[in-house]
This record gives sequence, structure tokens and C-alpha cells, in this order.
Amino acid sequence: MDSFSQRTKAELARRFPKKRCCMKAELAAIIRASGSLHLRANRVVVLAVTSESAAIMRKVHLLLKNYFQIPSRIIIEETGRLNRRYYKLQLFGGKEVKRVLTELDVLSPGLALESGIPSELVRSDCCRAAFLRGAFLARGSVTDPQKNSYHLEIVTENEEFALGLYYLMNLCRFKVGLTQRKEEKEYLVYLKEADAIGQFLTFTGAHSAFLEMEEVRIIKGMRNEVNRLVNCETANLGKTVRAAMEQVEVINELKAKGVLEKLPAPLQELAYLRLDHPEVSLRELGELSTPPLSKSAVNHRMRKLLNLAEQFLGREGKKSPKLNDY
Ligand SMILES: [Zn+2]
Repeated sequence: MDSFSQRTKAELARRFPKKRCCMKAELAAIIRASGSLHLRANRVVVLAVTSESAAIMRKVHLLLKNYFQIPSRIIIEETGRLNRRYYKLQLFGGKEVKRVLTELDVLSPGLALESGIPSELVRSDCCRAAFLRGAFLARGSVTDPQKNSYHLEIVTENEEFALGLYYLMNLCRFKVGLTQRKEEKEYLVYLKEADAIGQFLTFTGAHSAFLEMEEVRIIKGMRNEVNRLVNCETANLGKTVRAAMEQVEVINELKAKGVLEKLPAPLQELAYLRLDHPEVSLRELGELSTPPLSKSAVNHRMRKLLNLAEQFLGREGKKSPKLNDY
């Protein structure tokens, strides 16, 4: 089954920008994040973009076609021990590649790939959303909302690009973090809060993913509420059991000292009933009495019994048993 991250990306891959400014911004982000420049032996320049997702590759292909009217080729590669499938989009030819990279502001004057984010690309909100969508499609992931903690990140080996994304997301008012994974020489631009992640999903156009996340959050919230109530109930139950055990202890003491037999019959009756049923609540003790007693009547008698016990047994200094009940 697809992960939440894959579903989010599939949705974003389907969202095709309508305006040319946004096409440009999204394409620029994808190429910055996962493009590479190669020079073949026969001096052919190749721009390559790789991804594990066919849908993302299709999108890059369409963006290149619609924006530049330049055809590209997609090939499938199986790499690594795990035989993971990669899609590689290739754009051939020095002239075409140079045109694409220059227009997208990806090529610096020294003919190296530029990794910062030029402000002209992300001047308006629509283009900012498109750029972030492209960067997320290329190198982003988001944890399943079912998990305990929320996390969305965009990974890059390039410090300049990481800083650019960090500033851009700040500009869009996301509560964003930036960190470096030293061992892997990677930079991580990330969001940690559910609200911020929800905001990012809506901003970039992953509306179904946002709704899915909200649904899980509501269910999680309800589950927490139920757990809180159950814990509360259990705590009350604990109190009842403790009170009953204290009552049993006192009654046994009265019995051992021969005091119990001298008490009025209704109190004796209640005492024996409690010894026979140490696990029940006062209300249930009342139901077990003959004739049945109301909870307040049982409460009253039990209090009396414990007060008498205090007098007879001289239990000063010892806290009198509680009569808490649920
Ligand atoms: Zn735009």
C-alpha cells in the first residue's frame, strides 16, 4: 500500500500549474533539487532529472514540453541491491539544455548549476506555492499522520538551496526548521507541527492529503479523549477499591476484638456484607442488603460503623478510612 507521503506526492504531481510563471517556478525547483548536468564522451550535454515516481517524471516532461516546447526522454533504471526502480528524464543537446537552465536561472555565469533561489522566481504567492511543490515533489517526504509525531521535510545536499528553501518557507510564514545530518552530508528543511504541515499541504495544493490528515487528527483527538475518560474512571475505581479495603481492615479488627458482636444489628449486617463482598461499591452493597438500602443509607451506616470503630479501637493518629465512592 502507498504511504501517506506517496499519496501526497501523487496528488501534487497531478496538480498542473495553469500560469506560465508557476510552471517556470515549479520546474526550476525540481531541477535545482534533483537535476544534474552530464557531458557525454561525444561532447553531448545532457540534463538529467531522476525520481522514484513515474508521475513526477511525467510532470517534468509535460512542464518542459508546455513551457519550452522541448521534448525530453524518460528511461527506467533498476539500481542498487534492492532493485529499486528509478525514472530518469533526459534532455539532450547543448543549445536546449543551456536555454532551459538559463531561463530557469539554474545556470550561473560560470556554467555551473546554481542552487540558490532567485527572488524573481518566487515573487508572487502562486509561484512560491509552485516552487515549494516542486521542491517537495523532488526531495520531500511527510510522515503518516497516524504516527505519534508529525514531520515534513525536504532534503538536499546543497547548503545554499537548503538556506533558500528555509528563507522562502519563512517568507510564506511557515514555522520552519533547518538542520544538518552530518553523517550523510544532508541538509533538512522541516516542519514539525501538525498545523504547519496542514498549512503546507493546502498551500501547495495537496487538498486530499490535507483532508486525510485532518480526519486522522480528529480520530486521534477523540481516542485521546476516550483514553482520558477511561483513565479517570480507573482512578475513581482505584479509590473505591482502596476505601473498601480500609473498611474490611477496620471490620476485621472490630471482629478480632469482639466489638463487632456488640454493635447494633444494622451495622453488624453491613459489616458482614462488606466482608463477604469486598470488591463492590457502596451502592452495590445497598442493593445486596435485605431489604435493599439506598446508597446514602449505606453511606450513612458505614460512616457510623467507622466512627464507632474509631472510638472502640482508639485509632487516634491513624487517618480515618475514607468513604469515597463513585
Ligand atoms: Zn505564478
